[in-house]
Amino acid sequence: MVARHAGGEAKASPLSPAEREELRVRLVSLRARAEAAVTRTQGELKGEDAQLFRDLGPTGDWAVAEAEFERDMAGAAQARDVLALVKAAEQRMHSGDYGSCEDCGAAIGYARLSASPAAIRCVACQGARERPGRGSLSR
Ligand SMILES: [Zn+2]
Repeated sequence: MVARHAGGEAKASPLSPAEREELRVRLVSLRARAEAAVTRTQGELKGEDAQLFRDLGPTGDWAVAEAEFERDMAGAAQARDVLALVKAAEQRMHSGDYGSCEDCGAAIGYARLSASPAAIRCVACQGARERPGRGSLSR
């Protein structure tokens, strides 16, 4: 029998059906907004905003991004990126992969997905992909 360690690392648990449904709804609304942004403007985004959406990815701060998104829907190119991420997440939801890390297969966890509904990697794997010491990551 395997000895279990008391209070080891907190492992993210798989999504419950309710959590999955909630995230699915949020993805749908994100997609709707991204699609609206894509159709509304076909122009290029200004550097600052472009950077925001480029950094958004699965690790970005979606709360901030969503606020920016509301405020400035001018970024068709970046909105397209967001749209692609959201669509990929929805596809993963259909295929049953949603909520599992693309790299290691571990559960990504509701807390992380709640902050980043389109996250495809667990914190550890995402961190490993990002350059360590990239300066001041904290906001
Ligand atoms: Zn992982």
